[in-house]
Amino acid sequence: MSAQLNPSDPTQPSQADILAALASGSFRPKQPPQTVTYSELGPEASSSLVSSSSGSKRNAGRVYCFRQGCGSLIILPETGELVETDVPVLPEDPASPFPPTPATPSYWRVPTPFSFENIGYSRPDATTSIPPSSPGMDTAKGKVKWLICAECDLGPVGWSFEGGKESWVAVERVRYAKPVEGGEALVKEVQETQEV
Ligand SMILES: [Zn+2]
Repeated sequence: MSAQLNPSDPTQPSQADILAALASGSFRPKQPPQTVTYSELGPEASSSLVSSSSGSKRNAGRVYCFRQGCGSLIILPETGELVETDVPVLPEDPASPFPPTPATPSYWRVPTPFSFENIGYSRPDATTSIPPSSPGMDTAKGKVKWLICAECDLGPVGWSFEGGKESWVAVERVRYAKPVEGGEALVKEVQETQEV
């Protein structure tokens, strides 16, 4: 005896439902994108993730939420500018899935909130102070706001400031489109474009 699919079963999406979801753009593929973490790329991480254009190092590929299975797209290629520091800024939570912050952490500087594909911001945090030498502190006027995944709330993956435009995303708290073996390198030459 085998179970029969009941075409009128209300728990099963009908073909019409699926087509409607596809048409509205709300249909999400079951398989999240193939991604790797910063540390999985090893010592070559910065060369395989970064493209250099006119003196600034930018993310060569797409950047996603750290939570495997979430797959939320955070920034598109060439959006974040690599900032190399010796300032660990983000609070550590041993219960989080994030790896420990390295002694010399790097961040993607993202110019405006509109540069993100998907991101969430916390309320201004009056209780946490970040190191004075943190990127952005020199011009910050407001309190720190933490960046979290817009879809699953995982965070903080970075920070911004109340009233400020720029954001910084920790390179080790996001995932990267998997480099294709023998295929297109993630390091790509970028046409020099004049930014205004
Ligand atoms: Zn997420």
